[in-house]
Amino acid sequence: MTLPKMNRVLLKLSGEVLMGGQQFGIDPAFVLELAKEVKAAKDTGLQICLVIGGGNIFRGMAGAAQGMDRAQADYMGMLATVMNALAMQSALEQLGVETRVQSAVQMDQVCEPVIRRRAERHLEKGRIVIFAAGVGAPYFTTDSGAALRAAEMKCDALLKGTSVDGIYDSDPKKNADAKRYETVSYSKVLADDLKVMDASAVALCRDNEIPIVVFSIREKGNVVKVLSGEGTQTIVTD
Ligand code: UDP
Repeated sequence: MTLPKMNRVLLKLSGEVLMGGQQFGIDPAFVLELAKEVKAAKDTGLQICLVIGGGNIFRGMAGAAQGMDRAQADYMGMLATVMNALAMQSALEQLGVETRVQSAVQMDQVCEPVIRRRAERHLEKGRIVIFAAGVGAPYFTTDSGAALRAAEMKCDALLKGTSVDGIYDSDPKKNADAKRYETVSYSKVLADDLKVMDASAVALCRDNEIPIVVFSIREKGNVVKVLSGEGTQTIVTD
């Protein structure tokens, strides 16, 4: 399946990819490499919304597992996504790409709040908008934040850049015969509990007919390849 011609996409990167080769946190040199990928996608003429996770710094579930109040731990996770968004903004600016960060948790001194119409204007002016703090509420993830912003901003697709080059019928790290799906339906992803994005994010994309494209962000030049139909990926659609 080839993707239809797209004008605007939402690119979701999990926080883990910002670690580069490190075990934790942000590797600025690697973030710059990721920013080059994002710039290359933008240079094809696309409008780009970005959502970045926070798992490289803090996950609410991990905090809760160690006895923290879950909501409190999730607030920390959301703050982690803001740090990542600022790191990516900085890297994009080093490359001369104008960006704005909009956070779902207001922090006026640091970035803008999420305002859809303002985000529209930024995109029209050729800026990349980085949406931080997910949906702005605990018990959610940045996957749900990505699906929400993709719907709100009327994106043509949600591109999920991960460490794996698509969705497999079993774990490719454990099973050498694992098969990668070229396409797979939203309902199969939900019914088989395929670990792509959390269920609420998949359901939101299904209800709003937003294709999800899962691909590896670790491979150089891959975002552009995927956009032009020459990459390796899995497309989740009806
Ligand atoms: N988070 C949240 N609400 C949101 C988005 C994120 O509470 O709308 C918190 C949650 O604790 C989550 C953490 O922020 O674990 C980091 O986000 P996520 O796990 O989605 O990051 P990723 O796995 O993509 O790096």
